[in-house]
Amino acid sequence: MGIERINSRIADIQSRMIAMQTQQAGRNVQAQQTKSASGAEGGSFANALENAVAQTSTAGKSYTLNSKGIPTELAAYGNGKIPANALEQVGNTRHKLWAPAAEGLNRMINDAKREGVTIGITDSYRPYEEQVDLARRKGLYSQGGLAAKPGTSEHGWGMATDLDLNSKAQTWMRANAEKYGFSENVPREPWHWEFKPPTA
Ligand SMILES: [Zn+2]
Repeated sequence: MGIERINSRIADIQSRMIAMQTQQAGRNVQAQQTKSASGAEGGSFANALENAVAQTSTAGKSYTLNSKGIPTELAAYGNGKIPANALEQVGNTRHKLWAPAAEGLNRMINDAKREGVTIGITDSYRPYEEQVDLARRKGLYSQGGLAAKPGTSEHGWGMATDLDLNSKAQTWMRANAEKYGFSENVPREPWHWEFKPPTA
């Protein structure tokens, strides 16, 4: 989607939101009084806009990757510096991933569950500061440890998740994960799964 289309889409959403707010304002005073904070309306407008844009931007979208295989829109933010509005929550956990990856993971977890397979999550998006901390605690992968060099981790792009898998779930993942965009791509780490977005 070009920037002009995104801008016109945002303008369209904004004008609809304003129309809705105007209607609502005329509606009833009691509803206003039950609102807890005066800032709530501004916040909910921002959230609604953010969600509307997020929803229209990921479904069926394909991505341009840079030479390192990172979607260019993520590369622009920087590893471990992904803004909250580009991330999405996984289920009702505290975990977040880049929105398209979170959507794939949510679908995968739900489908697995229907087949009696439980997929747990132990790690997901990892901000830069956490990568530094992890490298200090677990050592660099290049030196036999378990952490990527800070600023290079797939977790820093919100494109990798570490899963809690029993042997049944591990087998299920190896047979099915690819359908949801996930692959097991690090030797010695059967829990680490990377999301590969659809490309144009
Ligand atoms: Zn990992």
